[in-house]
Amino acid sequence: MDGDCLFCQIIAGERAADIVYEDEVLLAFKDINPHAPVHLLIVPRKHIRSVNEITPEDGPIVAAMIMRARTLAQELHVDRSGYKLQINVERGAGQVIFHLHMHLVGGWRRQ
Ligand code: AMP
Ligand code: ZN
Repeated sequence: MDGDCLFCQIIAGERAADIVYEDEVLLAFKDINPHAPVHLLIVPRKHIRSVNEITPEDGPIVAAMIMRARTLAQELHVDRSGYKLQINVERGAGQVIFHLHMHLVGGWRRQ
């Protein structure tokens, strides 16, 4: 837990979020500034700054993030229409919250 980290504060229940899923490893909540009809953030409970700080021991956490994204996409019915999983790494790529998270974005209208 990093007391200055916004996502750690959400995980600790100190700050509100629209949580759609949680277990012992991770949470998923709605992005406060959605870029698409479905825009979730999948966030491990462990404070990891970015992909650059993932260690081999964190492998199960990363696997859980992807598998949960897959399940949530199915539950939200965007699995067949399509979705993006995006992780921004450091400022140059647009990372602004320095607690590892994956964006699940989808639900655009079909052409
Ligand atoms: P990134 O640019 O990859 O660091 O993404 C950070 C994301 O967190 C942005 O899409 C923000 O809209 C989102 N965000 C910031 N504060 C909150 C919050 N309190 N609850 C939910 N999402 C947030
Ligand atoms: Zn954190």
